[in-house]
Amino acid sequence: MPKLTGKTALVTGSSRGIGRSIALRLAREGALVAVHGSSSQEAADEVVRLIEQDGGRAFALQAELGVPGDVHELFLALERGLKERTGGTDLDILVNNAGVMGGTPPQDVTPEQFDRLYAVNAKAPFFLVQRALTNIPDGGRIVNISSGLTRFANPQEVAYAMTKGAIDQLTLHYAKHLAPRGITVNSVGPGITDNGSPVFGIPEAVEQMAALSAFNRVGRPEDVASVVAFLAGDDARWITGSYLDASGGTLLG
Ligand code: NDP
Repeated sequence: MPKLTGKTALVTGSSRGIGRSIALRLAREGALVAVHGSSSQEAADEVVRLIEQDGGRAFALQAELGVPGDVHELFLALERGLKERTGGTDLDILVNNAGVMGGTPPQDVTPEQFDRLYAVNAKAPFFLVQRALTNIPDGGRIVNISSGLTRFANPQEVAYAMTKGAIDQLTLHYAKHLAPRGITVNSVGPGITDNGSPVFGIPEAVEQMAALSAFNRVGRPEDVASVVAFLAGDDARWITGSYLDASGGTLLG
């Protein structure tokens, strides 16, 4: 039997990129998956269609994160979707994946850009966890998508990396807080991962990015999804408060 049969999961930002792969993988492991995005209902619906085609269960929901009322709106849709399909509102697995990148040299980062990065990448996950705790049963799982940039300097991404540092703090302190309930909280840090954005179609750029990994290739979303699926399952019950490096050896230097 797939290892997540009977479980429910929310993967934020799963309409595309790494989150999409995580949603597909958790569904393949048997979980009922809430596929979330903000801008494209069609993209989220397409992920649901792929999951159902593969024999899995999923539903789509839309909610923009990083704006007032974001968590409330997301949970209204999430609980409605869960109730229709399970009769309850239990959420066994929360994956905080949605995020926005920076890519701005330190001297050009504006307060508005900084606030936006922080609102989506750090504030929203904090309040999602806070809200989700009424739904997550004992033994549940929280996985926060961090970044290798919390340990690998790239000045272009300083503001973004700061938000991911905050994610690792969310992991550390909530892991302690939730351990009495058997809920594990862990961070996963991808390196450069092909999320389908145009730069991954430029061979010279890909070659340069690949050289950062010890395996001399860029990550595939599935590489990260495998790590998340491991953490979401019972095999990872003894791991909490950890940062799992999913960068293909980028941090080896
Ligand atoms: P993508 O840009 O490919 O996808 C981002 C996802 O998050 C989309 O589903 C998007 O939905 C959603 N999202 C973005 N902003 C918001 C918002 N304000 N409200 C709601 N949903 C939002 O990202 P990746 O797959 O590349 O990245 C996924 C995670 O992995 C992020 O946290 C990122 O920081 C992290 N990461 C990525 C790396 C990489 O190389 N790709 C490296 C290290 C970490 P929509 O389009 O509908 O808004």
